[in-house]
Amino acid sequence: MRIDVIALFPEIILPALQVGILKRTQDAGNLTINVHNLRDFTADRHQTVDDYPYGGGAGMIMKPEPLFTAVRTLSRDSTARVIYLTPQGTPFTQSLAEALSLESHLLLICGRYKGIDERVRMKLVTNEISIGDYVLSGGEIPALVLIDAVGRVLPRALGDYESAQGDSFSQELLDHPHYTRPAEFEGMTVPEALLSGNHEKITEWRHEQSLKRTAEQRPELLEKYQLTEEDIAYLDSQKPER
Ligand code: SAM
Repeated sequence: MRIDVIALFPEIILPALQVGILKRTQDAGNLTINVHNLRDFTADRHQTVDDYPYGGGAGMIMKPEPLFTAVRTLSRDSTARVIYLTPQGTPFTQSLAEALSLESHLLLICGRYKGIDERVRMKLVTNEISIGDYVLSGGEIPALVLIDAVGRVLPRALGDYESAQGDSFSQELLDHPHYTRPAEFEGMTVPEALLSGNHEKITEWRHEQSLKRTAEQRPELLEKYQLTEEDIAYLDSQKPER
């Protein structure tokens, strides 16, 4: 997969690409990430990327010309998905990350100021993605969030060590609690099922804990999940007595 990022502050993104899974995936040749400075696609001496809004009001708008040049230059030899990171976009989820991981070329546009000229959205953008219902000062961090989530689910990105299996949302449920050594720490012990060595018992405990945690923290996720009769009986058994 190839990911091109168009940003005004590449320095926010670049260091995070040099560590961990993202670095390994790039080193293995499974992912190529190029971060471009939008100013390199300007044609004037001052490398102007923004201008005042028509109609007046506070804040600057990112000009269309540099963005059109950047997108057209970078997608010349491929049909890239052109994604504008914006709080107005589709909410980013694990399943969207997995769907995007099947694409061959993503081109990410990071906004700044009040955002981009509408004509860029009309003509070039194929997807708009939001990382949450809050407004950040720029699209660089949202782009990094997307790259990290997509990069780690690319085929062969994760070793057994960091396996995505069982991660929160991988089956529409939150992850179960995890423990490592020591078996007792400050009076808190590891649940007996995990020490039993009985794989069936461990799998059952983990599944029940995922159900319990999801019911406590994100009950709306259970509405989309296919609960079995055993799941329903377990969740009922966890409800406090009236
Ligand atoms: N005026 C815009 C609005 O209300 O929709 C917000 C502009 S914001 C200050 C500047 C840039 O940050 C946006 O163009 C976008 O690229 C990025 N951004 C801010 N919050 C974001 C979010 N929640 N998800 C994705 N991108 C975001």
